[in-house]
Amino acid sequence: MISIQNPCPVCSNKRFAELIDFGEVPQSGILLFSPSEHFPMIRLAFEYCLACAFIRQRPWDQSSWDYRKVNRPTRGQMPVYVNEVIDFFNQSQSKDSDLVLEIGGNDGAFMDQLAIAGLKCRLIIEPSLSLAEVARKKGHPVENVYFNLIEAERLRKRYGPAKVVFCRHVLEHVPDPEDFFRALRLMTAVEGMVFLETPDVYGITQRLLGHELWDEHLSFYSLDHLSRLTKRFGFDIYWKAVRPHRGGFNILLWARPGELREAASINTAEKDLALCRSFKERWLKFSLKIRQDACHWKRPVACLGASHPQSNFVVFSGLGDRIDFLVDDDPEKLNSFVPLPNLTPVLSTEQLLDGHPLGTLLLTAFGCQDWIDKVQKPLVRRGVRLIDPYLFLA
Ligand SMILES: [Zn+2]
Repeated sequence: MISIQNPCPVCSNKRFAELIDFGEVPQSGILLFSPSEHFPMIRLAFEYCLACAFIRQRPWDQSSWDYRKVNRPTRGQMPVYVNEVIDFFNQSQSKDSDLVLEIGGNDGAFMDQLAIAGLKCRLIIEPSLSLAEVARKKGHPVENVYFNLIEAERLRKRYGPAKVVFCRHVLEHVPDPEDFFRALRLMTAVEGMVFLETPDVYGITQRLLGHELWDEHLSFYSLDHLSRLTKRFGFDIYWKAVRPHRGGFNILLWARPGELREAASINTAEKDLALCRSFKERWLKFSLKIRQDACHWKRPVACLGASHPQSNFVVFSGLGDRIDFLVDDDPEKLNSFVPLPNLTPVLSTEQLLDGHPLGTLLLTAFGCQDWIDKVQKPLVRRGVRLIDPYLFLA
C-alpha cells in the first residue's frame, strides 16, 4: 500500500494535490447473487504530483488488493500489436537456454504466443492461485508469488537473471513502484531487455475517459513519466511508442540495463499540470450534462457491459439511479447484480435481442465495436435510442 507521505516515484517531489475525490463508492468487480447481499464500499480519490503531474490513487485505509483470489483471465484482451512485440522479441533472443520471464503472466495467454514462436526457457510470475494453475496446466513453469525485491533476490538465485522480462499491465497495479523497479533491474541480465506496457494517462487527463480511473490502478503514467522512472532505476530506453487499444491507448517501452541515475530534475510539465488542475471541473461538468439529458431517456435504460469500465463510468458520473440493467455475456455474470451503488441486474445480449423491454441503451462497451455493431441494427429497428455517452463531451 502506498503512503501519502511517499515521494513521487518519478521525480521524488513530496507535494501532491487532489485530482478528484469520488468519496465512498462500491468496490469494483463485485458480483452479487441476491439483492440482500452485502457489498464492500471503498474511499476512492486520486492525487497528482505538483512537480511532474504523475497521478496516483490516495491510499486511505483500505488494505492493498489481494490478487491471489482474483480469477480474471485476460486472454480475450490480446492487443492487435502483439505480433509487433513478439517480432521485436524474436530479434533479441539468442540461445535456447536464455530465460524469458513474464511478470503478471495471468493465465499464460501471452506466454502461449512465445511458446508457439519456439521459446523454451520461460517462467511466469503470477500471484493469482487460479490463473497460475491454468498457466501451469498449459505447460508453463509458474512462480505463484507477488514480484518484489525480496522475491527477485530469491528468483535470481534459483533461476539466474532473465534475458528478457515482459511486464504487461502490471505496473499500474503495483503499490510500490520503486521497489518493483529495483526488483526488475535485479532480475534483468546485463545483456538483457525489459518490455513494459501500461495504459496511457492521457486517456484520462486529455480525453476525459473518467472510467479509466479504476480502483485497482494505483499509478497512472504518461510516456514521459514511464521513461523517466525507467531511466531512474538504471535502464536505457531502446524503443517506445503509444498504441491504441480498446478505446484507449497503451504505452509500450523496451529498455536495457544501463546506468543508475538520480531522480530526474523537476522539469515542470505545465501542460500536464493544467490538465490535472482542470480535470475535476471538466469531469463534473460532463457528468452534470449527461445526468440532465438522462432525465429524458426512455426507460428501461441499459448499459452495454457489466465489468469495471461500465460500473466506473456509471458510479463516477452519478448515473446509477437511471440504469435499470447491464448487458454482459460472461457466463459468470449472468443472474448477478452489480452495485452502482443500487443493485443492478445483468442480462445477456441474447435476452436483449429476444425482446426484453428497453428504451435507451448506453454504448459503454468501450472499444468493443463488434458487439456494438451486433446490437445496433435490431435495437434501432425496435425504436431503442442508442447513446454514446462520451459524445456529451462535445
Ligand atoms: Zn513527480
